[in-house]
Amino acid sequence: MSIRRILVTGGAGFIGSALCRHLVGSGYQVVNLDKLTYAGNLDSLRDVSGSPAYSFHRLDICDEAGVLDILRRERVEAIMHLAAESHVDRSIDGPAAFLETNVVGTFRLLNAALAYWRELEPEAQRRFRFHHVSTDEVFGDLPFDSGIFTEETAYAPSSPYSASKAASDHFVRAWHETYGLPVVLSNCSNNYGPYHFPEKLVPLVILNALEGLPLPVYGEGANVRDWLYVDDHARALELVVTRGAVGESYNVGGRSERTNLGVVETICDILDRKQPLGGGGRRRELITFVKDRPGHDRRYAIDASKIERELGWRAEESFESGIEKTIDWYLANEWWWRPIREQKYAGARLGAGG
Ligand code: NAD
Repeated sequence: MSIRRILVTGGAGFIGSALCRHLVGSGYQVVNLDKLTYAGNLDSLRDVSGSPAYSFHRLDICDEAGVLDILRRERVEAIMHLAAESHVDRSIDGPAAFLETNVVGTFRLLNAALAYWRELEPEAQRRFRFHHVSTDEVFGDLPFDSGIFTEETAYAPSSPYSASKAASDHFVRAWHETYGLPVVLSNCSNNYGPYHFPEKLVPLVILNALEGLPLPVYGEGANVRDWLYVDDHARALELVVTRGAVGESYNVGGRSERTNLGVVETICDILDRKQPLGGGGRRRELITFVKDRPGHDRRYAIDASKIERELGWRAEESFESGIEKTIDWYLANEWWWRPIREQKYAGARLGAGG
């Protein structure tokens, strides 16, 4: 018998909501547990919120007793842990929240998961998984012209965000080695796609460019990220939790390295084609270079051959096809982004995502 009832933490966020939509669409029973911080948005779950296969609990992962209660009541068979503070710029301005949720929150969630797992019958214990969803940023900085992150690459985080994610990865492994909790981990590159919060690079550029606003880019825009369409990530996560080997980690990436400037220019050119600016101006002229982010890693690059070889996963979208889909989604779904943008984020800075 395989896993059918999955608790997703952070399911109201960007990747979490894509995962909930994917899992419900694939026949799983999904329990979404989310605190609904500024980054959580139940509008992103409109497609599944009426489904009998979906339920939602508003809860902080730091509430260990509350989490344990939900695990018992919902008879959860696996946890997919995505809840986190996720924006690098915010971690530089205010690291405390990153320690609280990403490190302490993961520790509390592990405690609740372990207590619950110990109560299960042997067969259910054997089937149970704690899947920790992490980032390639834990591996730190690569030179522009060489190197690639494998599952064996040593951790060397640079930002408060990546340090907090690295710490949480270590705790997850320790709960496996020390207490026997059946864990799997995945470390993914930069995601983009629908329902992405408008403070991150791709949606912010799309929306600023759409409105003819300046497109500030850090440094010279030379930083390189490996971009992955979010639905490709959701399929990878399903494979890791259902077929990944216990105690193992899997790197997930799109084999789509692009400089930040390249990403911004591609978005400008597609929007010029789809919705030309009045007066005939070109959106590339809106690009302005601003002082670089401190500790800004030059390049991330993912070797995804393990998940491709062992679990048969492959990214289906190229950067070109995925970014086109993403732009079409933002053009068609102003109902989703307009209220968020009007609240606070119209003038936010452009980073590398994160
Ligand atoms: P996000 O910021 O869009 O969403 C995070 C979600 O977690 C929100 O719904 C928020 O309300 C919830 N949350 C935050 N603190 C919580 C708490 N204490 N208790 C319960 N819920 C809480 O993030 P995202 O971009 O969807 O990323 C999801 C996960 O994937 C994160 O763990 C992140 O580190 C990882 N990741 C992200 C990327 C990326 O490119 N976005 C890449 C690799 C890995």
